[in-house]
Amino acid sequence: MRLEEKLYLLRHVVDEKSHIKVDEEACARCASRICLDVCPANVYSYVEPKVFVAYENCVECGTCRIACPFIEWVNPRGGAGISYRYG
Ligand code: SF4
Repeated sequence: MRLEEKLYLLRHVVDEKSHIKVDEEACARCASRICLDVCPANVYSYVEPKVFVAYENCVECGTCRIACPFIEWVNPRGGAGISYRYG
């Protein structure tokens, strides 16, 4: 099964408030933009001059919060976020 097919099986309850913030000033000086490479759900995209965050697609893996010091990530508010149907 491809990653895209697995992502389709997840259940999202989207909060109207983002649980991900990017320090835009620091991000503008970042040469690597590693968030674009590490996120399995393609939450981050770069359109000159900034990174955009599609937080509603986040699968809460936590990779970006480890990979990038300019990302502030908190758990989605109660009742919102991802549900894994198959563990
Ligand atoms: Fe992407 Fe995982 Fe970060 Fe969510 S927690 S934005 S899925 S890398």
